[in-house]
Amino acid sequence: MPRTLNTLLACLLLAVTGVPGAAEAKAKRTGKRPGHARNMPPGWTWPPSPAMRAEGEACLRHLDTLGVTWRPAPATRKVSTPIYVPDMVLGGVALVPIGRKGPQVMDCQLARALAEGGGAALTAAGVKALRFSSIHTYRNIAHTRILSRHALGLAMDVYEVVDADGNVLVVKRDYPGTVLREAERRVNESGAFRGLLTPGNDRRRHDDHFHFEARSPSEKAPPEKRAPPTP
Ligand SMILES: [Zn+2]
Repeated sequence: MPRTLNTLLACLLLAVTGVPGAAEAKAKRTGKRPGHARNMPPGWTWPPSPAMRAEGEACLRHLDTLGVTWRPAPATRKVSTPIYVPDMVLGGVALVPIGRKGPQVMDCQLARALAEGGGAALTAAGVKALRFSSIHTYRNIAHTRILSRHALGLAMDVYEVVDADGNVLVVKRDYPGTVLREAERRVNESGAFRGLLTPGNDRRRHDDHFHFEARSPSEKAPPEKRAPPTP
């Protein structure tokens, strides 16, 4: 579980807005309370549109071509393409829960991000396992109707990594050690995820974990067109 409530709430907020309080500030200016839809990736709706379902099917076929073993998860609120990955190994990297055990629902796009490039980047950095607090968590940001991307099954908070020698590196204690810095750099360069949130770019709110967040298909863009990592 996340170390503190503050950390969790901050992470949920940044997961959605990228800028602390941005959505709330806009809501005050416009007089409108932000709705859930604004937290969806561009073009996403709930329930999933036919286009999203087609994207999900394409994602699942892509997992097959990448050799990922997956199975459908039960319909899960706000997760467009819910799946389980029974062995929890993606792109050569093991995902290990440090909180709730058991099957972890995730959106296909998160599995794909790891299997398609994120895992290779982590492996190249000397990481063989990610120890995460949770993947799918359905909740709003406190005092708002803004849904976190954790609720979409697209995000994951990693508190510890295991290196190639089996050493457990704790983000709060060991960042900016070589392996953690290399993991951050290589994952960001891979483009598999939106810019990681880490102690390196958000010491105040992410001093003890890395926030990974998969891109939706519409958010995938060539490197020169990508927005810089959100702080
Ligand atoms: Zn997070």
